[in-house]
Amino acid sequence: MSLNTSAPRRRLALITEPSRRSRFEELPPVPSDFSPAPLQDSQGRTYRYVRFSLTDHCDMACIYCMPEQGEREHGLRPELLTEEEIVRLVRVMKPLGVRRVRLTGGEPLLRKALPDLIRGLRALDLDDIFLTTNASRLETLAHPLHEAGLRGANISIDSLDPQRFAQITRGASLDTVMRGIDKALEAGLLVKTNTVVLRGQNEDELEAIIHWAHARNITPRFIELMPLGEGATLPSQTFVPHAEMQRTLAHVLTPGNGQAREGAGPARYWSSQRDSAKKVGFITSVSEDFCGTCNRFRLTAVGEIRACLASRRALSLRDLMRQGADDRTLAWALHWSLLGKADGHAFSDPTEGEHTQVGMSLIGG
Ligand code: SAM
Ligand code: SF4
Repeated sequence: MSLNTSAPRRRLALITEPSRRSRFEELPPVPSDFSPAPLQDSQGRTYRYVRFSLTDHCDMACIYCMPEQGEREHGLRPELLTEEEIVRLVRVMKPLGVRRVRLTGGEPLLRKALPDLIRGLRALDLDDIFLTTNASRLETLAHPLHEAGLRGANISIDSLDPQRFAQITRGASLDTVMRGIDKALEAGLLVKTNTVVLRGQNEDELEAIIHWAHARNITPRFIELMPLGEGATLPSQTFVPHAEMQRTLAHVLTPGNGQAREGAGPARYWSSQRDSAKKVGFITSVSEDFCGTCNRFRLTAVGEIRACLASRRALSLRDLMRQGADDRTLAWALHWSLLGKADGHAFSDPTEGEHTQVGMSLIGG
């Protein structure tokens, strides 16, 4: 089966007008007895991990993520959070328990001041600063980013076949991405890969991706297709459940215990039968969600806090900051946004549907 994609060509995609995607709520006044404390929601989940989308622009247009749209100029648009605003927000979050930051997008490498931003974050003495990237510009940026304080990168790679890769990304060069990965390893970044598994496109490549990655000391991760944004427009049979991926890989992997996680991410890790120190991650957001242990929230490229990837409920911290809000008000806004977070994402509820209007690149995948 082949998905309905257009001829490969280079492009710079923009997902949509951000404001149409958000369901804004008004922040109640700061209660007089409010004092900043570790971020928790009404279910008792604690938040130590924030993901910032740095831009909703991208130089690829993956068929499960971006709509096919005309080219636009990239670069800093005035409505995006500035580097200074991002650093200020993280400074406010740190006493509330946030210790890990992931920079994503869209394509975060399009942000020209990325090394400066990472330097600014490093000065806050966090546990980790990571990037999620398509690696298109990593060949030149890997060393400067590592020197600035970046610890590692999760790199998207959906196929090892140049033609398939170009089809899925709508025109990107696998060779360029491979050179970016080599530089990331050379610079000393911890590298994991992300592969969204798509029936008819790459579900026959999982074993090859594992061998390719393990030979380079990379941990590969396989992601279930989520019905978000463009992912919601693909034929339902494109979805491959993690149980099917694991059945296919039963002769090369030893199962994990189902719950064990490495690091703070959502992946569950299985081990290679050849070498148990080498792992393979599965991100099972759809068929077996991990909402009950969620420890993360997101800031969109335009500074809206989204407690959940799959919800349009939003509050603009950018607007609060630009209206002169003090740090205590920002801390209250973070607490209030997380308190109202839903139990789970309702991907499997066809009547809910809100997540299908959520674009990954604006919010930060
Ligand atoms: N451009 C960067 C990249 O591709 O790594 C960062 C942003 S991208 C939105 C972050 C991650 O989200 C990527 O690993 C991508 O494969 C994943 N992603 C995007 N849309 C998805 C969908 N509908 N279902 C599952 N994963 C998706
Ligand atoms: Fe761009 Fe990443 Fe989305 Fe692909 S998955 S279109 S590389 S933002």
